[in-house]
Amino acid sequence: MRAAAAVQRAAVRSAAVALLAACAGEGGAPGSPVSVSTTTAPATATTTAATTATTLEPPPGKNPGLPEAGPFRGPAVSDYILPYPVGEAYYLMQSYCVSGRPGAHSDQLAYDFYMPIGAEVVAARGGWVVEMRESHPDTGWGTAMENYVYIEHADGTVAFYAHLMQHGVDVEVGRWVDQGARIGAGGNSGNTQNTPHLHFGVYRTWPQYEEMGVAVNFRNTPGPLDTLGGLLVNRLYEALPWEG
Ligand SMILES: [Zn+2]
Repeated sequence: MRAAAAVQRAAVRSAAVALLAACAGEGGAPGSPVSVSTTTAPATATTTAATTATTLEPPPGKNPGLPEAGPFRGPAVSDYILPYPVGEAYYLMQSYCVSGRPGAHSDQLAYDFYMPIGAEVVAARGGWVVEMRESHPDTGWGTAMENYVYIEHADGTVAFYAHLMQHGVDVEVGRWVDQGARIGAGGNSGNTQNTPHLHFGVYRTWPQYEEMGVAVNFRNTPGPLDTLGGLLVNRLYEALPWEG
């Protein structure tokens, strides 16, 4: 059993390399999850990894001590819970690394949860609020017009909660927020393509840098997950009770 587990871990690691390559390269087909075979020839994977490492270097002066992007971990040991209250369930509108249309996640390990304006948003992981904005209207259009909260975790990673409702942020910069605590209300601010949703992603850098994402899933939802461990588009994810 132990040997089998080691083989599985190795497969997950090589899958993570493929994942980062997918984000840095063409990405997935619009509206569909990234599908990367874990049986890719090792020589190809190695070459891609070297290229990816170069393109993923942060700009000068940003966050010198970077945590590893890492693979998706098993959801049972994830540091994160779904960013909405226990008992709520939302569809995933868009998964990570999707390219080809406005507002797509071509280089982001981010998720869009379809969520009505005013729905409660909670901290997926505890941390300090490092930036927030709530002044913009819920018009559904406009680059850099989204309301948001950034929360920095103990390991230096930073979660991004975006498109929040105008005047809908309930936390202040500098304040600690517990995992699962309310941070505000979902909305339709910024470039949502006029579909209210919560954009959620985690960065390795602060200030944030789109290609420096962390592969995240959530320990209070068992799935369904894709072959790499990420959430699937057009699936419903219910927030189940969780332990701290
Ligand atoms: Zn998004």
